[in-house]
Amino acid sequence: MPELAPYAVSAATTRGRQFPDSEASHRSEFQRDRDRIVHSTAFRRLEYKTQVFVNHEGDLFRTRLTHSLEVAQIARAIARALQLNEDLAEAISLAHDLGHTPFGHAGQDALNDCMRDHGGFEHNLQSLRIVDLLEERYAAFDGLNLCFETREGIVKHCSPENARRLGELGERFIVGRQPSLEAQICNLADEIAYNNHDVDDGLRSGLIRLEQLEEVSLFARHVDEVRRAYPDLGGRRLIHETIRRMINTQVCDLVETTAGKLARHAPRDLAEVRLAPVLVAFSPECFEAQRLMKRFLRTQLYQHYQVLRMASKARRIVRDLFVAFTGDPRLLPPQYQGIGDSDQLRRVADYIAGMTDRYAIKEHRRLYAVSDS
Ligand code: MG
Repeated sequence: MPELAPYAVSAATTRGRQFPDSEASHRSEFQRDRDRIVHSTAFRRLEYKTQVFVNHEGDLFRTRLTHSLEVAQIARAIARALQLNEDLAEAISLAHDLGHTPFGHAGQDALNDCMRDHGGFEHNLQSLRIVDLLEERYAAFDGLNLCFETREGIVKHCSPENARRLGELGERFIVGRQPSLEAQICNLADEIAYNNHDVDDGLRSGLIRLEQLEEVSLFARHVDEVRRAYPDLGGRRLIHETIRRMINTQVCDLVETTAGKLARHAPRDLAEVRLAPVLVAFSPECFEAQRLMKRFLRTQLYQHYQVLRMASKARRIVRDLFVAFTGDPRLLPPQYQGIGDSDQLRRVADYIAGMTDRYAIKEHRRLYAVSDS
């Protein structure tokens, strides 16, 4: 790894892990975190969890897994360009969506609704719960025992009430401090990834059309550039040439704007990064172009009637599962049952949140379909 800037997170000075752990001889602490995440059960489940399109709708759409890989790739490129800790950026990116329910945001909203009087449900906090508690891989402790800086990066946002419950990790939300630059990068790499792959998936699905996107400045500028260079190009190649230019523009803008802010604020170390305002950012022009693209995706794709129909079905499935399991906990697999356990509702939420799309559909059928076993 190239030499790190003085304000990067250094593996040698990590705040460490919750439980005493062995020392690895040939990997840095954040490489170890990344490896633990990749080997986890929750990570493999991402393959069958919805990003926008439900898993069975097509083989070529992004899933939570391919989305997470794209985020990691973008975050690493940015971290390296800014002499920040690439391993940490990769670990946070790969873990950032572990806590998502089946069926994307529709599933989360339904589960949050079900848990309203019992602490709610938030996918960020669920990601942390998975790496801190739910993964069962070690003899000596629950969870993956990740480093503080990786866990900090996973908790992107948090209510003050939940922050108080998180102790040391929640402190920054209460006192208004920033996370590491590596964590800040992952937040924006997430946006770059989904804005661009949703354009691609939206076009592929036929729910949005090229002519509509030509009205959106960010897309229009880049598709014009491609057409000037390759006047006869059409179809998928035109789309891919345009999208990779959009990604490149946004990554370069982010790197340049952030380098400028770092030069102006001149943090001497990580402690000063935490005290500074958010330093990883797009230029105002790029931010505005992205805002318009997000608005387009929201109104034309995420609120497309076919997407909304699936979302409505998803909410119903999650609600039905919750009702069945809380109504009679004996229907749960034994490891999720706890007699007289006050955390029974949380266990139900954990069970449902851990399901892949197709598993949730299957469980729903097992519980509700009369003709099925
Ligand atoms: Mg994401």
